[in-house]
Amino acid sequence: MRASPNASFVPIPGHLLIVAGTRPEAIKLAPVVCALLGDGRIPISVIAAGQQAAEVSCVFADWGLYATHLPQMPSRSHWRVAEREQRHRLRVLFLALGADAIMVQGDTWSAYAAARAAAELGRPLIHVEAGLRSPDPRDPYPEDALRRLISRRAWLHFAPTETARNVLIDEGIAESQVSVSGSTAADALRRLMAQPQPVALSDEPIGLMVTVHRRENWDGGLERIFDALDQVMRERPALRVLWPLHSNPKLAAKVRERFADQAQMVLNEPLPQRAFVEQLHRCGRILSDSGGVQEEVPYLGAAALIARRCSERPQSEDSGHARLCAADDPNFLAELNRLLDRPRPAATPFDQRAPWGDGRAGARIAQRVIDALLGRTVVQPETAQLAHA
Ligand code: UDP
Repeated sequence: MRASPNASFVPIPGHLLIVAGTRPEAIKLAPVVCALLGDGRIPISVIAAGQQAAEVSCVFADWGLYATHLPQMPSRSHWRVAEREQRHRLRVLFLALGADAIMVQGDTWSAYAAARAAAELGRPLIHVEAGLRSPDPRDPYPEDALRRLISRRAWLHFAPTETARNVLIDEGIAESQVSVSGSTAADALRRLMAQPQPVALSDEPIGLMVTVHRRENWDGGLERIFDALDQVMRERPALRVLWPLHSNPKLAAKVRERFADQAQMVLNEPLPQRAFVEQLHRCGRILSDSGGVQEEVPYLGAAALIARRCSERPQSEDSGHARLCAADDPNFLAELNRLLDRPRPAATPFDQRAPWGDGRAGARIAQRVIDALLGRTVVQPETAQLAHA
């Protein structure tokens, strides 16, 4: 039932289904959805499909968008079972809604399940944020592997950077199917920074933010991060740390158990992106293992210590905004102290020289998708007149 890789589908003006499983997928798809709706020629539906459906809906609601919810699945212990069930539900939904093309973003299980469902139904797949690759395909696991598997099924690939585009071409994807769009994370940030809002999460200024959720930090990494944070808070009694907890209840419970009684630590529910960005912009320092945060720190003029061994986003290290150090590295504590002592890096403007683009990726992606689905001459997105400058 699987369509051959890079199959050339006959473009038809049809119903495009946009699937978001997690908060970062919604954040990075919302600019594309808005640009498609602004044009109005392609009928689209947005599907919240995954364990973070409530957060996905919150993100879309902030953009004035509504997502149809795929009914929640009971949680399954084995990912193969969960993915098969999710894929089956998506296939049924795609057929029921009359999907002619499917769009996914990034590297999650929901994106992978939707990509496979699209291939099984012979529907063209559009992949946003394609071509990011870690130097080690097993790290981060499963994200890097899932991204590669999605690439093998996609018809149109939107690479956030020139490097990501070259990776896809080297892997055998036809040049005509790959476009460099920039990252839509920059679009989302650009919009939020244009409308700053006051947030008050602590009486005293926050000196460090923390977000940790990646699988590679579940076994042991989290405890090492806890120990390092404990030590820096002991040595710096004036330091206030804000940790907006991840929606994974097991992770959140571990953090609460360790820090609920620590007066220097401010624990919070996951923040709406507006509040998160505003707070990071103000505080300027973050310890994180997030992919999205790596893309955001250059524009916010913030410094990040990324608690990972490998990253598919070396551009943020090259620009001097992020530094990579795994939680089990003997230098981790020293790197955390360095993060707290270093001066803030300068903010990168939203222009073509920025590592993740100029914050206009959504309009480029929408333009290319519309042209391709309507079967018109494809305008190269890099040179296209942007409708939403
Ligand atoms: N974010 C948010 N609220 C929070 C923490 C993060 O809106 O409390 C945003 C952040 O701006 C970034 C994204 O969520 O755009 C990162 O998501 P996450 O770290 O969950 O996933 P990853 O980027 O690693 O896939």
